[in-house]
Amino acid sequence: MLAMSFRGPQRVRVQQKPMPEIKHPEDAIVRVTRSCICGSDLHLYNGNVPDTRVGMTFGHEFIGEVVEIGSEVTKLKVGDMVIVPFNVACGRCHFCKQGMFGNCHEANPEATAVGGFFGYAHIGGGYDGGQAEYARVPYANVSPTVIPEGMDPDDAVLLTDVVPTGYQAAEMAGIQPGDTVVVFGAGPVGIMAARCAWLFGAGRVIVLDEYDYRLEFVKNYAKCEAYNFKKDMEDVAMFIKKQTDWMGADCCIDAVGAEAAGNAVQTITGRKLLLQGGSATAMHWAINSVKKGGIISVVGVYGPTDNLIPLGNFMNKGLTMRGNQTSVKRLLPRLIEHVQNGTLNPKGIITHRIPLEEAAEGYRLFSDKLDNIIKPVLIP
Ligand code: NAD
Ligand code: ZN
Repeated sequence: MLAMSFRGPQRVRVQQKPMPEIKHPEDAIVRVTRSCICGSDLHLYNGNVPDTRVGMTFGHEFIGEVVEIGSEVTKLKVGDMVIVPFNVACGRCHFCKQGMFGNCHEANPEATAVGGFFGYAHIGGGYDGGQAEYARVPYANVSPTVIPEGMDPDDAVLLTDVVPTGYQAAEMAGIQPGDTVVVFGAGPVGIMAARCAWLFGAGRVIVLDEYDYRLEFVKNYAKCEAYNFKKDMEDVAMFIKKQTDWMGADCCIDAVGAEAAGNAVQTITGRKLLLQGGSATAMHWAINSVKKGGIISVVGVYGPTDNLIPLGNFMNKGLTMRGNQTSVKRLLPRLIEHVQNGTLNPKGIITHRIPLEEAAEGYRLFSDKLDNIIKPVLIP
């Protein structure tokens, strides 16, 4: 079968790989019909995730048709069209039982932090992903969900990650009615977080990014305010304070993660300390832009050693920080409803449909933010 294959930082190609096989009685094999590229793939693509091995197939956002099932699969049958959540989760460990499907222990027992993920290097358990013609789906009785009758496959594929992640970002932010929410990042995840913030009663939603086309997009799609941190302000935290009567935002969402752009300015008793670019800039801004006692929700993915964060301000402001990989299965039922009744329109963020064979071009466009790209989908 054809599959995307990682060759080294910023080098991917599509090549023939052996067909996946049932390895365990709870496995299913899915013929992939759509598979997105995600900002999380960019961390791997850019070489920022340890133990990303040459030959790995990425892709944790896919849907498709069940073509084979193991002897213990009871919830799916051959021919079902399924949404495959990005978490590989057993459904029975200590964490899954609490609804923490993004932290499954059984799927990735040796990891210090994460659970199992499709196509996410060996720190994610080493499961090959769905940017391929076929994928092996372990624990097929747990997370895969039959696509509801009449649902557009473009909506369905975004329910594997982006929609639940945007929603969980807003949920973790603890938004109270009328709150001012600042979202860092106008990529697919930040866009969805901004849109979902309204569902939790936000009074004002402000999104920051450096790409004008993404800011224009999010303004229309999420009906929010959007500013360019490179053009519209000198000091991000000061800008947000001025916007909020000098209080700071009620909550901030970091939808950026490791490869954050921009220079963080930290003001300590009037003296300015410039921290140049690099990882954790958005997190830095979030800590300094949120009000005292506020909440920071972190869905942007960081590497194990990204640590450029102003811990002193975090402590002195009495902040709460919440983060996690999204627990897709926990959120799917309510998000399917939101899609079906029209409160969320996920497919509206898909800008590029790219044949799987041209995955390398998809990665290039998405990584370099070219051609006004928001969300690319690979079609095998
Ligand atoms: P993306 O790369 O398309 O978007 C990131 C955006 O952040 C870009 O538009 C970029 O210009 C902007 N940006 C860069 N530096 C910034 C800064 N300092 N301040 C504000 N904006 C800045 O990626 P995406 O697909 O939207 O994903 C965003 C993040 O969410 C990634 O880190 C990804 O790994 C993570 N993610 C997490 C989960 C989860 O389960 N927690 C799931 C999916 C994605
Ligand atoms: Zn993703």
